[in-house]
Amino acid sequence: MNINKYVPTYYHTSIFELNPNDVINKGYKIVFSDLDNTLDCYIDKTPSKTVFDKVKAFKEVGIKFIIISNNYKRRVKPYADKLGLQCIWLLLKPLKFRLNHFIKKNNINKKDVLMIGDQLFTDIALANKLGIDSILVKPLTDKDQKFTSFRRKKEKLYFKKIKKENKLKLWR
Ligand SMILES: [Mg+2]
Repeated sequence: MNINKYVPTYYHTSIFELNPNDVINKGYKIVFSDLDNTLDCYIDKTPSKTVFDKVKAFKEVGIKFIIISNNYKRRVKPYADKLGLQCIWLLLKPLKFRLNHFIKKNNINKKDVLMIGDQLFTDIALANKLGIDSILVKPLTDKDQKFTSFRRKKEKLYFKKIKKENKLKLWR
């Protein structure tokens, strides 16, 4: 089991426990956030009040917040539109070509970016491939779509090993 590809830069309980000022103070200007089980459960069509408030807080300190998801347009776009956020759907995480293209097209400096997600094999693996810093958060719920749930079990084993080898650095 090679865990190195899946070690996040940081670990934190939830995006909702994240203080946007700390994100700024660490030098990040852009957040790439996963959607399902990072911001809301996949069945929640409308962002919760907590999400609205958090996104507002990020915007207020000047952070550009972008939703990046492997889910379909019909899931991602209406959700992001309600928050007034830019989004990318069908990203095919952990494959890097779509996000890489977006980064180049928008002249984004990877050093400015913080990736936030709940999955080692998609969110964190992609961040590491691109050399982007990341925060692994706990999945919000235990509800997953089929294409996600088959990965979960294996991810739990990797997570345990990362923890055991003291490679989990807490966000603070
Ligand atoms: Mg997710």
